[in-house]
Amino acid sequence: MKYISTRGQSPAQTFSQILLGGLAPDGGLYLPESYPQFTYADLTAMRGMSYADLAFSILSRLVDDIPAADLKAIIDKTYRADVYAYTRAGQNAADITPTVKLEDNLYLLSLSNGPTLAFKDMAMQLLGNLFEYVLTKEGKTTNILGATSGDTGSAAEYAMRGKKGIRVFMLSPHKKMSRFQTAQMFSLQDDNIYNIAVNGVFDDCQDIVKAVSNDANFKAQHKIGAVNSINWGRIIAQVVYYFKGYFAVTNNNAQKVSFAVPSGNFGNVCAGHIARMMGLPIDKLVVATNENDVLDEFFKTGVYRPRGAANTYHTTSPSMDISKASNFERFVFDLVGRDGAKTAALWSKIDSGASFDLNADGSFAKVADYGFVSGSSNHANRMQTIREAAEKYQVTIDTHTADGLKVALEHRVADVPMVVLETALAAKFEDSIVEALGHVPERPAALNGIEALPQKYTVMDVDVAAIKDFIVKNT
Ligand SMILES: *Cc1c(COP(=O)(O)O)cnc(C)c1O
Repeated sequence: MKYISTRGQSPAQTFSQILLGGLAPDGGLYLPESYPQFTYADLTAMRGMSYADLAFSILSRLVDDIPAADLKAIIDKTYRADVYAYTRAGQNAADITPTVKLEDNLYLLSLSNGPTLAFKDMAMQLLGNLFEYVLTKEGKTTNILGATSGDTGSAAEYAMRGKKGIRVFMLSPHKKMSRFQTAQMFSLQDDNIYNIAVNGVFDDCQDIVKAVSNDANFKAQHKIGAVNSINWGRIIAQVVYYFKGYFAVTNNNAQKVSFAVPSGNFGNVCAGHIARMMGLPIDKLVVATNENDVLDEFFKTGVYRPRGAANTYHTTSPSMDISKASNFERFVFDLVGRDGAKTAALWSKIDSGASFDLNADGSFAKVADYGFVSGSSNHANRMQTIREAAEKYQVTIDTHTADGLKVALEHRVADVPMVVLETALAAKFEDSIVEALGHVPERPAALNGIEALPQKYTVMDVDVAAIKDFIVKNT
C-alpha cells in the first residue's frame, strides 16, 4: 500500500514515511493509491469483533510496513476499556464506542469516553503509540507542532505527554477555549509539552502551522511533525468507529446506515467517506456545521468559499469554528476523479484567498453519488436541541453533538438508522449546558477541580518568525 498526494507532484510513500509528517512536499494531502475493499463476506466476519480486533482488520489493510504482530500490539494497547472509561451510566467501557439508542432508528455513537472527553482521543491515542513505536525503531525524535481550537490540543497532549523523543508545541487561540478545555491543556506540567496561546483565532494558528511546515529546511532541521487533522494516521483510526457503529445498529450487511457528523476541518466525516469507499454500506453522510457554514454552503451550492480568519465566528460549539476545512481537499480529489493537477489548480485559488465553483465542470452533480448532504445550526438551535434531548430522551449532549443532532433530524429517512456522532461530552462545555438546562452537567469525578490547578503556557502574537524562534530555543 503506497500513499499519493492529492496534488499529484510528490513521490508515493509508505505509511511509516508519511506518519510523522503533515502535508506532502507539493502541498497536498496523502491518500492511499486505492481504497482496500471489504466485501459482504468480510463484513460478516467483522460483525461482532471487539473494537481492537475490528481496528486491526481495517488498519492492517492500510498499514503494510509495520509487522502485523507489532501493529496488533499497538492497537491492543490503545483501545482498552480503562483508556475510554468515562462512559455514561449503563454503557460498557469494553465497547470503546458504545451506542445510545434515542428512539427507533436514531442513535448516538459515543466517541468521547477517552481521557479528554472528545472524539479526538479515539485517533490521538493511537497516534501517540504509533509515533513512539516508529521513532524508537528508527532512533529518531520529533517536535510536534499543532493548532487547536480546543479538543485537538488536549487530546494530543494527553496522548504524547511523557513519551520519549517527542515534544509538543501546541498553538491555541488565546482566551477562546472553554475554561475546562483551557484547564485540561494548560494544567499539564510535563517537560515535553509547550502550550502557546496565540493572540488570534484558530485559523491564525492553523496558518502558522502551515507556514512552518511549508518551510522545508526548517521542517527538516527541527524535525517538525504534525498531529492536526490532516495527519493520515488520525483519519484511518477514525474509519474504525464507522464500522463499529454500523454493526451496532444493524443485523445484516444489506442494511444501510446514515451518519451525522458535527464538522469543522472535515477530518471526522472524511473518515466516513473513506469507510464508504472501502465498502461500508453507508446511505447518507450528513455534514453538520455551526454558524461557520463553509461546508454547508459547498454541499448546497457547489461553491467552496473559505471565509478567512477575520470572518470566523466565535460560537458555542467552538471546536467547529473553522472557516477553511483542511481535509476537504481529500474528498475533492476523489470527487474530481483523482486528478492531482486539477486539485492543485483548485487549491491554488484557495491559497490565494479566492473560492472555487464545481458546477461548471459537472463535478458538483456527482456529490450525491458519495452520499453527502448538509445543514447548519446556530446558538438558538443548539440550546433548543440540548433541551429537547434532555426532555425527550433523558440524555445530556454537548453543543457540538447538538449541531449534529439538529441537522440529522432534517435528513432522516424512514427505515434507515441515523447515527449521530457524539464528538464531545457535555462536561467540556459547562457554561452552555447551564444556559440550556439550568444546571451543570455531570463531570467524571477524576476531573473535579481541574480549573483550579496551576497553568503553564506562553502568550504570543500571530508571528511565524517568533514562533519558529520559540521552537528553536526550546529544542
Ligand atoms: C474537532 C471537533 C469537531 C470537528 O471535527 P473535524 O474533524 O474537524 O470536522 C467537532 N466536534 C468536536 C467536539 C471536536 O472536537
